[in-house]
Amino acid sequence: MNSAPFITVSLAAFLLTGNAVGQTPDTVESHIVAARAAAGTDYRNTLLNLCPLFPAASGTGRGRGALPLTAPRPAPDRATWYASPYKIFDNLYWLGTRQHSSWALQTSAGIIIIDTNFAWATEPEIIDGLTKLGLNPRDIKYVIISHAHGDHDQGAAELQSRYGAKVVMGAPDWDSTLQRAPDVAGGVPKRDISVGPEGAKVTLGDTTVNIVFTPGHSVGTLSYTFPVKDQGRTIQVAYSGGTLTGAFGADGARWDEYVASQKKIAAAAATAGATVILSNHSEYDNAYTKARLIPAKREAGETHPFIVGTESVQRYFTVMQECAMAAKLRNVVK
Ligand SMILES: [Zn+2]
Repeated sequence: MNSAPFITVSLAAFLLTGNAVGQTPDTVESHIVAARAAAGTDYRNTLLNLCPLFPAASGTGRGRGALPLTAPRPAPDRATWYASPYKIFDNLYWLGTRQHSSWALQTSAGIIIIDTNFAWATEPEIIDGLTKLGLNPRDIKYVIISHAHGDHDQGAAELQSRYGAKVVMGAPDWDSTLQRAPDVAGGVPKRDISVGPEGAKVTLGDTTVNIVFTPGHSVGTLSYTFPVKDQGRTIQVAYSGGTLTGAFGADGARWDEYVASQKKIAAAAATAGATVILSNHSEYDNAYTKARLIPAKREAGETHPFIVGTESVQRYFTVMQECAMAAKLRNVVK
C-alpha cells in the first residue's frame, strides 16, 4: 500500500499547527484518522459508535449513553438474546447475552461477578449459567458494577439479597441508583462499597481487582485491571467500563473528563501488562463471538481468542480517546 498521501497530509497538519511529533493535530479529521488507524479491523464497531464519521451523526453515537434504562419493561423474546455460558480462562467465565456481558471471576475464596445485565437475564444467564458451569451462585461474594445503567446493573439487587454479595459501584452512580423508585426493574440495591476518584482494590482470596475511577460514560463509571489464569499462566485483563458519549452534547468538560479517564485506564492497563481487553457490550470486544471460539480448533499461529496483546489493548483506548476528541470538536462551539 502506498502511504505517501497520508504522510503528506500529516506533515502539512504538523507544519500548520506546530504540534509535537507523535501528537495528533487538533482537528476533527486528524483525530478521526488517528482513531481509524488505531481501530484497524479489530475495533471497527467502537469506531463506528464513537467517532463522528458522518456530519449528521455529530459524534453522538447512537445516543444510548443517555438512556439510564431503569424503567420496568417486559423481557424481550429469549430467542433474540439468550446465550449459553462459557469458560474463557481457568478462572474467568462469560455469563452474557448476545448483546451484553457479565463475567464471573473465580477466586480461592468465592466468586466476583463483574457487571450484571437486565433483570430478566439474572436468573437464566448468571444464576443458571454459574450452575451449568459447575459453580455455585451462593459463592458470589462481590458484584462490581461498571456503571449504573440498567443493561449492566439490574441484577445487582437480586444477587445482593439472595446471596449476601457486596455490591461495588462508583460513588456518584450509587447516588443516582439510590434515587430509583422501589419498583424499578431488578429492585434497588443497598449501598455497600462506594469507589471515589482514588479508585480501589477489591481482594477476594488469591485475586485482586484493581478498580480505576473512569467517569465519562456515566458520572461514576469504573474500569478495571485484574489477573486471570490461562492454563496456569497469569494473564492480565483490562476492562473498559463505559463506552458511549451520546449524552455529552456541548458539555466540553464532560468530553475532557472522558478522554482523561481513557488515558488513566490505558496507563493502568500498560502498567499491568494487560493483553486482554474486555467490555460489557459484545459489539465492542466481540465477547459473544470469541467465547464460542474457545473450544474451536486453532490454526498454527493462532492464540487464545481473547489474548490480543498489549499493543492492541492500547489501540482500543486510543480509539476511545481520539473519537471523543474528534466528537468534542464537532459538538462544542468555542
Ligand atoms: Zn451505559
